[in-house]
Amino acid sequence: MKNHAYRNIKLCTKDCLCLFVCPTGATDTETGQIDFSKCIGCGACAQACPSRAITMLPNIMPAQQNKDIEVIKQLFKIADNKIEEIGILKKTLNDHVEDERLYKALLHSNKVMIEDIMREAGYMLPQSKNTAALLQTLACSNDAYVKNIANKLINLINVNE
Ligand code: SF4
Ligand code: SF4
Repeated sequence: MKNHAYRNIKLCTKDCLCLFVCPTGATDTETGQIDFSKCIGCGACAQACPSRAITMLPNIMPAQQNKDIEVIKQLFKIADNKIEEIGILKKTLNDHVEDERLYKALLHSNKVMIEDIMREAGYMLPQSKNTAALLQTLACSNDAYVKNIANKLINLINVNE
């Protein structure tokens, strides 16, 4: 099986069209759940849904593309600069409370940029090999709390081969 149907319950108007077209009875409009053990990924429900509440998604995400090591290095440099900027902004925020909203907006935008950069570098995809390698490193941490969380995540996340 390549795909599963996913229902966005916020968009669902419970008109039950998906229920009528589903050949396997996998869509349950009472509970809002789609039974993955029955779903054969035919996509009939997604086509029938007038609210666009159903999306067909692959069971396993495509393998991560290889990234040039130089690109990753540069992305980490940009992330480091952003972290430095956050430090400066935090200090400035403490010294200039009257400008709080502007600084908070800048802090937020910097954090979002760092997340984007790390995702681009391949570290924020939960199923990526880079994330798995990072977690393995954290699992060797001397900090028991970090070690514990890293081990829990390692057991939880399937890694794309
Ligand atoms: S994809 Fe097909 S089998 Fe799966 S829930 Fe939708 S209609 Fe049913
Ligand atoms: S067809 Fe769409 S809107 Fe209607 S019950 Fe199914 S998911 Fe909800």
